Amino acid sequence: TTIGDSFDQTVSRFPGRAALVDIAAGRRWTYAEFRADVDALALALIEERIGCGDRVGIWAPNCAEWVMVQYATAKVGAILVNINPAYRSHELEYVLNQSGIRLLFAVASFKTSDYTAMIREVSPKCSSLERVVYVGGEEWTALLHRGHLASPDRLADVQAGLSPDDPINIQYTSGTTGFPKGATLSHRNILNNGFFVGELLGYTEQDRICVPVPFYHCFGMVMGNLGATSHGACVVIPGPAFDPVATLKACADERCTSLYGVPTMFIGVLNVPDFASYDLSSMRTGIMAGSPCPVEVMKQVTKWAPEVAICYGMTETSPVSAQTRVGDSLDRRVSTVGRVHPHVEVKVTDPETGETVPRGQSGELCTRGYSVMLGYWDDPEKTAEAIDTDGWMHTGDLAAMDEAGYLNITGRIKDMVIRGGESIYPREIEEFLYSHPDVLDAQVIGVPDAKYGEELMAWLRMREGAAPLDAAALREFCTGRLAHFKIPRYVHCVDEFPMTVTGKIRKVEMREQAVEILG
Ligand code: ATP
Ligand code: MG
Repeated sequence: TTIGDSFDQTVSRFPGRAALVDIAAGRRWTYAEFRADVDALALALIEERIGCGDRVGIWAPNCAEWVMVQYATAKVGAILVNINPAYRSHELEYVLNQSGIRLLFAVASFKTSDYTAMIREVSPKCSSLERVVYVGGEEWTALLHRGHLASPDRLADVQAGLSPDDPINIQYTSGTTGFPKGATLSHRNILNNGFFVGELLGYTEQDRICVPVPFYHCFGMVMGNLGATSHGACVVIPGPAFDPVATLKACADERCTSLYGVPTMFIGVLNVPDFASYDLSSMRTGIMAGSPCPVEVMKQVTKWAPEVAICYGMTETSPVSAQTRVGDSLDRRVSTVGRVHPHVEVKVTDPETGETVPRGQSGELCTRGYSVMLGYWDDPEKTAEAIDTDGWMHTGDLAAMDEAGYLNITGRIKDMVIRGGESIYPREIEEFLYSHPDVLDAQVIGVPDAKYGEELMAWLRMREGAAPLDAAALREFCTGRLAHFKIPRYVHCVDEFPMTVTGKIRKVEMREQAVEILG
């Protein structure tokens, strides 16, 4: 089915239940109320002659209007293009032109940035762009007003003409390893994935999901919004951007049952000074995903969100391919990313030969099934590099599968370190460094070395009040507990790691900085 039809089914099952809460705006919607606004916006889009296959951009932080645009575009078959609010004029111009956006929804300003100025600068250079509407502004209100007056039959006709295999969304990847790529996704891709994510978390219409992760990324838009609405659950938006205190407050005040975050967000929440004073007794589950989840962090989180799951995925696969299940032991949830999702196939191959490796052995993870994207937008070459002729998506991630089918992500092919011919998985060393009582967060990268080809460098964030560790002290801590070749030769203590705006650590940038530091 299409996203619009699935949404309507939920509305008819749970019209009076909470659909959406926007804490910053102080507003809330039931499913019936939310549908009225979504349909009004969809009808307004039809009047604007936006229809099947047209690209509509959204350049805004998390807010209720974002979700309205998501469902309204899906209802008329327009392709929603998610634009990262941290992008600046150069990146905006790239996305507008690369995807050929006709209508752009934006915010006038956010944090310190004036979006209107950037849009004015870029617009003349984007020939496809016809109109910009600022969400929440006068034109937005006028659009909704017109839509509320229009005849709903026109929308029903448009909706009935859509196919689940139509492209409906272009999502740019995080840009962790290079320039972001625009993954083109269909209703079938993301609606099913959101549904299964929610299914495996045991969502019902009783659930209230706190979503501080960005909507422009699949984590917020698919696992959050589609995961919730496909089960009649409610999305709680704690604020326009992640803030640990606002997140905790939203969880407590709104009696949330589920919380989403990348590991760094959970670390942020756990470190709020008066953490214990928030009532998290309603919390049952949640998702930690996006990058490797440190064991220690998971142990802390399961104390108040006992069923919290780990998901593994990528933008190109809608996103989730593996997830831990309710009932998986804590041990499984801290050491694996769970088992493969329903209707998804995986294989683990030798990156050199392409042969499937035995269970337990690390290799490149490949996935196949309904969740693999249609392709990179307007880029058949990159698409062919990523998806082979048999339909396998080559993830670029290293994984091993155990006898029981649990997957362990052992790193990214691009992050693997080869020191003196020895393959080293930084993840293993990072996990070990977390066991140091003064270490808050640890990352390990490879840096060029004349003798060994590569050497290891640990980047550390120290706990408040703890003195920075130097290389000698780290060596002492590791000696006897880590093989000698896995002991980082260099240490660099920082307040923050270089991050993508999706909250992922940019090892590419760390490697560049390391080269400068080491001269
Ligand atoms: P780009 O492709 O632009 O370099 P990206 O791969 O970080 O950026 P996303 O699609 O947002 O962009 O992220 C997918 C990647 O995140 C996966 O390929 C994997 O490396 C990592 N990842 C996701 N979930 C997990 C997890 N649970 N454990 C470890 N790594 C994960
Ligand atoms: Mg990627």
